Amino acid sequence: MQATAEHATAKIAVWWDMKDCPIPEGYDPALVRQSIEGAFKEKGYSGPVSVTAYGDQTQTSGHILQGLLSTGVSVVHTRPESTNYHMHRDMVEWRGQNPPPATMMIISDKVPGVFDWDLLRLQQRTLYNLFLAYSVKPLCGTLLCTSEEWCWRYLLFSSLSRRREVVQCAKLYCYSCDFDCQSLKKFQKHLSTYKHAREEHVNPTHDEVVCVTESWGRNYKATPEFATAKIQVWWDMSTCPIPEGYDAPLVRPSMEAAFKELGYSGPVSITAYDDHNHTPLQTLQALSSTGVLVVHVIPDFKDLSSDLHAWHYANPPQTAAIMMVISDHVDWNSHGLVRLLQENNYNLFLAYSFRPSKMSFLLTSAEWLWESLLAGSEKRALRSESESGGAPTSRRIDFLRFITPNFSSTCELE
Ligand SMILES: [Zn+2]
Repeated sequence: MQATAEHATAKIAVWWDMKDCPIPEGYDPALVRQSIEGAFKEKGYSGPVSVTAYGDQTQTSGHILQGLLSTGVSVVHTRPESTNYHMHRDMVEWRGQNPPPATMMIISDKVPGVFDWDLLRLQQRTLYNLFLAYSVKPLCGTLLCTSEEWCWRYLLFSSLSRRREVVQCAKLYCYSCDFDCQSLKKFQKHLSTYKHAREEHVNPTHDEVVCVTESWGRNYKATPEFATAKIQVWWDMSTCPIPEGYDAPLVRPSMEAAFKELGYSGPVSITAYDDHNHTPLQTLQALSSTGVLVVHVIPDFKDLSSDLHAWHYANPPQTAAIMMVISDHVDWNSHGLVRLLQENNYNLFLAYSFRPSKMSFLLTSAEWLWESLLAGSEKRALRSESESGGAPTSRRIDFLRFITPNFSSTCELE
């Protein structure tokens, strides 16, 4: 993909795992930067490039270190088990200091399985241009939004640029000891000291990548931009039914009350999907009378993709809008949802009848257990109804929609 105008001259930061993607034997290390820059230039990117090379530098020859350093590639020494941790932490820190438009590039075989979960969630909040390079092509594609993915060797050998350029800004850094310098001699001396060896063995740094988005709170208060945004609810009644004895007309007010508690007061549209052959007419009428669009689907229908697509079409990328899925099968639609969250100004709410065993890669702004969402607000909803004299809601849609493999139609509820 060629660079857009806003990205053409924006900053480019490169994090390179030298163990996964080593310099091939006989390759001039001074050409690594030029090759990376050359590949970017071919795509129309000419912004300033910073490259940081990570690895156990006690194993890297002085000739390679000198070649990298003299061309402005910063070199970081890490214990082999800590490389991913430091790369990821540096990426997160860099993102904090460099708001978009900017470009990130990761040269590593660890994107799938190590970096992708957190990066995917980060992309749903802030989208940077992302480039990848690897020695081993991942077996299955990633959900990450990438501008280009390169084979590492191809990248090194394909670029036309063979110009050695001396760049002075590079740094040498030892993460084990928090030691930095700009002299290769001093750096190599440091790596051979007893103090350094002791630091690595006595005081090892963290090994595991810390997923920063894991601690991002659920159910945070609405930002001003989203406080009055439209909320579209897709409700799978087969996995999240109306609990026995619960009044169907209270479903909508309960949801709205839960949204308001977090500061969301925008207009709410609700579509309820189920095989309604088995839904009592009274329930259908009750839902319909509170403005819930009731959609009849074939049993086990879980795919919302056509409705997601139609809704997205009505809500352009810059429109702040909220999607909510009530279902125990959100994973059925997770690929479509993640793409919408990466590329648009949307937020996501989820509700489910039981909490998933592991945190999803979908970044949510609020999550509820279905029954507690309904129960928690029941009293409030009843109270507000009696306070307002039990006046019926003014919203009436009175529609039923049918989705079956060969038939789609809309009619009025009799
Ligand atoms: Zn050290």
